[in-house]
Amino acid sequence: MRGEGGFKEMGDSGFEEMKKEWKGLIDIGCKPFGSANLIRAADYLVERLGRICPDAAQDVYEMPAWEVGDWSLGFVDSEGGELKAYPFLGSGASDGFEGRLRFAGYNRVWNMYVWDRYAVTDPEGEIKAYVTIREGGGAIPQMLFTGTGGLPHFMVGEEERSRILEAVESGARIGGFVQAKMQPDSRCYDVVGSLGDADEKVVLCAHFDTVYNTTGAYDNAAGAAALLETARRLKTYRLKKRVEILLTDGEEFDLRGARARCAKDQEKTAAVINLDGVGRENILEVWSGPESFERKIRTYLDKSREEFTPVYICPPPPGSDHAPYFEKGIPVCMLTFNDQGILHTPEDVYEESKLANMSKIVRLTLGLMEHLGFIEKIGEQ
Ligand SMILES: [Zn+2]
Repeated sequence: MRGEGGFKEMGDSGFEEMKKEWKGLIDIGCKPFGSANLIRAADYLVERLGRICPDAAQDVYEMPAWEVGDWSLGFVDSEGGELKAYPFLGSGASDGFEGRLRFAGYNRVWNMYVWDRYAVTDPEGEIKAYVTIREGGGAIPQMLFTGTGGLPHFMVGEEERSRILEAVESGARIGGFVQAKMQPDSRCYDVVGSLGDADEKVVLCAHFDTVYNTTGAYDNAAGAAALLETARRLKTYRLKKRVEILLTDGEEFDLRGARARCAKDQEKTAAVINLDGVGRENILEVWSGPESFERKIRTYLDKSREEFTPVYICPPPPGSDHAPYFEKGIPVCMLTFNDQGILHTPEDVYEESKLANMSKIVRLTLGLMEHLGFIEKIGEQ
């Protein structure tokens, strides 16, 4: 398929606005929670959503964020001994530490992954820093859930495993530093608008923040742009439920925006549909629950003529914005074209080829909402 051709050939026009909004978000740059760029993105989104939902507004929460500067991790006595590493989101800071590595158990990340964890200990045996190895992948920033103990905590990729193991054996000294700090006065900006006026609502959500090393084209500027497009297309439907369009901030930082919004939300909610990650592959992961809700989704996806291979995960893994709603007992569904190779990396950039899955996910979301009885094509009974 040639360039943009595949996109146009699908016979479904009108994705130009989505493409523009997607680019608009990417062009702002890295958008970590608490950053000036992220505020810029929230301003951009409220303006765009305002064209669709007259009540579009920012829902702002006072919340401490975390900021990272420079860092380094490597072997002290060998030249070229740098390790490719990223501080975890929320890692402690250190002007400089040094010590020897020893196995320190496991780090459970997002309640989804359990990865080997090593401690850097000084001659007295005191732990000065931690290093977690991401199993089967490269180093990326991820949220730290081990508590704000104040110590630096790095992630390295599978490619560094052998050097780490050798260092444990040989007692080679490892050292480094991390510039990082909490920003106590920061704010979390969700962008919210609604359509329709039924008592019960459906929440459609997507996050627009990124981790600190990427512009996040696939994760999740693509989901946010697809969500806006979905909202725009609701014009041609009768809304049997009110539809809340929720663009969240702080997803990468332990779902801060969705948690804050969900905690104060007392409205009757039929379901939450979350779009997080629209990558290049054809596997559509469906994270949903309870199973009774998943069965309805399956019935729809089974008969869809779109091209994709669904993979169902139930109960839904907790690593995205649907999680607080599911904990409340609300049926949820997250759709993602996962793209682990570029997740949380500087390589997650604008690429025309991603647009095909973005338009696919818009059509699937609308079709699913229709199947679930939330919306109805105007002119049909
Ligand atoms: Zn995401």
